[in-house]
Amino acid sequence: MYNYPGNIHIHSNYSDGSGSVEQIAESASAAGLMFVVISDHETLAGLPEESIRHGVVILVGVELNRLHSHYLALDLTQLIEPDEDNPQRVIDRVNEAGGFGFIAHPFEKGSPYLEKGKAYPWKTWPVFRFNGLELWNYTSHWRGRHPSALKTLYWFFFNRKAAMDNPPRELIELWDCYTSAGHRVTAIGSSDAHASIYNLGFIKIPIFTYRYIFSTLNTYITLPEKISNNYQTAKRQVVDALINGHCYLSFDSLAPGGGFSFYAEDSRDVYFMGSALQYRQGITLHLNAPRKNNSILRLLKHGRVIRTAEETSLAFSPGGPGVYRVEVYYKTRFGRPRPWIYSNPIYIVN
Ligand SMILES: [Zn+2]
Ligand SMILES: [Zn+2]
Repeated sequence: MYNYPGNIHIHSNYSDGSGSVEQIAESASAAGLMFVVISDHETLAGLPEESIRHGVVILVGVELNRLHSHYLALDLTQLIEPDEDNPQRVIDRVNEAGGFGFIAHPFEKGSPYLEKGKAYPWKTWPVFRFNGLELWNYTSHWRGRHPSALKTLYWFFFNRKAAMDNPPRELIELWDCYTSAGHRVTAIGSSDAHASIYNLGFIKIPIFTYRYIFSTLNTYITLPEKISNNYQTAKRQVVDALINGHCYLSFDSLAPGGGFSFYAEDSRDVYFMGSALQYRQGITLHLNAPRKNNSILRLLKHGRVIRTAEETSLAFSPGGPGVYRVEVYYKTRFGRPRPWIYSNPIYIVN
């Protein structure tokens, strides 16, 4: 089992990001990432640049819709027509074109310091047939956290980790609701990197450079074999892992989440997170935290915590079918444990 960190939802200078694909690849490599997903607004202009650069697999998708109901679409060769009034149509068009997608920053809130409080939430519920959703979006999270100007400035300059408390609770609930109802919905963490540069005339202030933001909220894919050196094979590996939910998100600012694993095992096989399997006697769920001494493992069934362990690993025999997922909290020296890792569920069905 191999875990590879990647960063999803990046804007380049093909839309409103500040850097080229080359600069993004360089920054990703410096941050130790193995893949990135570039998703510019309503353009696939970066597509010819898909390749392995600086050891990083570059995937180019697109962020569809503009005013609200943003949809991150991947694995497309042609641009899809937007539809803000009926975003279900966008989801379906992406699927028909052979792609797949994630609902971007579904419950985004506006900031009084940006675009006069404008936010870009997903407006139409329920929708179906989407592959997944952004459970935690770094840039969007900042946009919605503004107790006061002073506090925001303090966080920005001195304690950025403190601004990232947890993914939106109502969004976690919605995700659990979908999966408990039998829909397979893959959660990802994303950066929504723009590496914007504020020009104050006498000084230019970069806001969250690519290099910085690539060490914050990452999505790790789990593969049964090593990632390939061949671009097309590597792209398929990343795409298949994201489609099948063989991935988890980690708030790497606390600590890199690379050593995490969550899988089911029986006498016949091993099943990665995101998998569905039939309930039978003899299934064991295995949870492994990336670090000693810092981790609290929480196993959840249908969104409810059923087991907590302040250990590095935990084996659990599920007593019946259910949607099982894992959260790992990071123990800090002072203060409350911090949400750190969110796995995708294992679906044990009847
Ligand atoms: Zn967006
Ligand atoms: Zn975006």
